[in-house]
Amino acid sequence: MSYTWTNWVGNQSFTAQELVKPVDEQGVIDAVKRAASADQHVRVLATGHSFTPIVQTDGMLLDLAAINGVYSVDTATKRAVVGSGTQIKQMGDPLWELGLGLRNQGDIDDQRIAGAISTGTHGSGTRFGSFSSTLKRARIVTATGDVLEVNESTPDLLYAAQVSVGMLGVMTEMELQVTDRYRLGEAITHESFEDVMSTFYERVEQNRNFGFFWFPSEASAELYNIEIPAGQQATDTCHVKTFNEVADDVPDSAIEHHRVDRSYKIYVMEYSPNFHELEYFVPLEKGADAIRALREFMFTQLPISIFPMEVRTVGKEEGWLSSQYGRDTVVISVSGQPGTEYWDYLRSVDKLLGEFDARVHWGKLHFLTRDQLFDRYPKAQEFIDIRRQYDPKGMFLNDHLRPLFS
Ligand SMILES: Cc1cc2nc3c(=O)[nH]c(=O)nc-3n(C[C@H](O)[C@H](O)[C@H](O)COP(=O)(O)OP(=O)(O)OC[C@H]3O[C@@H](n4cnc5c(N)ncnc54)[C@H](O)[C@@H]3O)c2cc1C
Repeated sequence: MSYTWTNWVGNQSFTAQELVKPVDEQGVIDAVKRAASADQHVRVLATGHSFTPIVQTDGMLLDLAAINGVYSVDTATKRAVVGSGTQIKQMGDPLWELGLGLRNQGDIDDQRIAGAISTGTHGSGTRFGSFSSTLKRARIVTATGDVLEVNESTPDLLYAAQVSVGMLGVMTEMELQVTDRYRLGEAITHESFEDVMSTFYERVEQNRNFGFFWFPSEASAELYNIEIPAGQQATDTCHVKTFNEVADDVPDSAIEHHRVDRSYKIYVMEYSPNFHELEYFVPLEKGADAIRALREFMFTQLPISIFPMEVRTVGKEEGWLSSQYGRDTVVISVSGQPGTEYWDYLRSVDKLLGEFDARVHWGKLHFLTRDQLFDRYPKAQEFIDIRRQYDPKGMFLNDHLRPLFS
């Protein structure tokens, strides 16, 4: 029976020939073999928090929600084996009970781990890579229905799999590098743009996690449910967030922070489904210039650019399609309301950040061309070679991915 799927914000929707909900790896194998014999395309859905058409398929759609849970941990090596359908928010408590925690997290924790890893989902801080960099082993059902096990003894396959946007096959089980559990203290300040930028690199260096939202207009903050201190203006100011570790034996009362809690309770914030976003990654050393250039541009584009600009950083990693492949990055995002005509604005942002050698977030709006892929991702060809080896007919490609990766 056909199935119509729509993503979280509602800017992507399509009808697949059928929806299949395997409850274990054998169910995935059976489904993929059946699709192969019928020449069907296959994609996997997760929680639909990507803004790009990377879940879309005209064939079989798989929902792996039932392949879920923290299966085992090794407290010595600090590795956790999880089902690929596990949501990030389902890992905090069980890992904490075992003395462990995720190394870093982004602004929300609704995503399934395979969805987050497939797109290079990240938090902030140059001491950490994205979720993808924590993937150390995976079981992947490939186009023949065979299970490919990738791990550190097959580094090329692992680096291809770490950010693969579902193109190598269906991930069923994943082993993640985690860390000792930790508490975080959150500090929030409201500061002028110049105050923040004059010490931008020091803040990146000194804090475990540092990031900010810059507001181009008075209307900006409330679009992301951010409160401005009473009596202060929003325009050209920054909502700055830093998270730093707080030792277990330090009482909360001794900390000058707004909140202190288990790490996984500190990272997340509340978003309403009122925006979709473009997020690009520029080399760390070009970051401050890129932020300044984008601020100037956004001021000239008011009121279409009223959503905040978000700025974060991510540490370098080895995944071939990672935005941090081989370099630390500054991450810059801008947003708009679905349904508004702001594509010219986004194309201009794409051009502006392209001048800074920007790479893209695979789950967020972008205009990357195949030529740019080869220019900006040194291992693009190696990724495509492996993709072709395991999926020569392009079973796991779709209309969005084929022009870039066929
Ligand atoms: C409100 C909001 C906040 C966000 N915050 C951040 C943030 O802080 N940092 C950041 O980097 N991004 C952020 N994002 C983007 C988001 O993390 C990514 O788009 C992520 O991929 C979404 O995860 P998902 O579980 O919804 O996956 P989906 O969007 O449903 O799927 C993502 C991709 O993974 C593939 N996939 C899923 N499961 C499997 C599997 N088992 N095997 C193979 N392929 C699979 C899908 O086919 C698809 O290609 C945010 C998005 C929103 C809407």
